This record gives sequence, C-alpha cells and structure tokens, in this order.
Amino acid sequence: MDIFKSFTIEAAHWLPNVPPGHKCGRLHGHSFRIELQVSGEPGAETGWVMDFADIKAAFRPLYEQLDHHCLNEVPGLENPTSERLAVWIWDRLRPALPALSAVVVHETCTSGCRYTGPSP
Ligand SMILES: [Zn+2]
Repeated sequence: MDIFKSFTIEAAHWLPNVPPGHKCGRLHGHSFRIELQVSGEPGAETGWVMDFADIKAAFRPLYEQLDHHCLNEVPGLENPTSERLAVWIWDRLRPALPALSAVVVHETCTSGCRYTGPSP
C-alpha cells in the first residue's frame, strides 16, 4: 500500500548551467508541489500505513529550509533543478522516514519528476 502527503513550497531559483539566454537562467519562482510517498502494510489495528502527521513532522525541518528561500542558496542545491531537489529531499528525509518510497516534485502543473531512490 502506498500513501502520500503533499506540500506546497514557494521558492525562487535560477539554473546556472543552462545555455545563455535560456529563460530558466533568470531568477524566477515556483509554487513547487512536493509529494512524499510512503509504502508498507496497513497495521492490523490502526488500519493505516503511517500517521500522516508523522510524515509532516519528519519533513518539517526540510520544509523550513526550502519554503520562501532562494533554492540556489541552500547548501547542496546550487543547481536546483526539480531532479536535484527530489534527490536532496530523499537523501535528507529517508533516515527519518525509512518507509519513504518516492519523492515527487511538481515544478509547474504540467512538469515535474519522481525519484524512488538510487538505482540498485
Ligand atoms: Zn524554474
């Protein structure tokens, strides 16, 4: 069973490694929607995989580092593509949330990425 919780992060960024003149090289903002997926068997008694509040609590320190910040200034996000952001979240969240099975980053309504951890 997979459960998920969504968060919205308002943040600015620019991409330093795009070709000259590319629009993503200019400072701009997104309402990033972050989906955290957790997988496991629902408990026989609880009926849930995990308390959604526990997902929120585990993500909170990372949320604080990202929301209303310029992502380029966050250590480890010097090139803050959605792909790098998904990996950044995964690497920092998984120790606190071992059942984490995917990090989805929606950069716009139609564009985003989904990371399920390093390839075996
Ligand atoms: Zn952008």
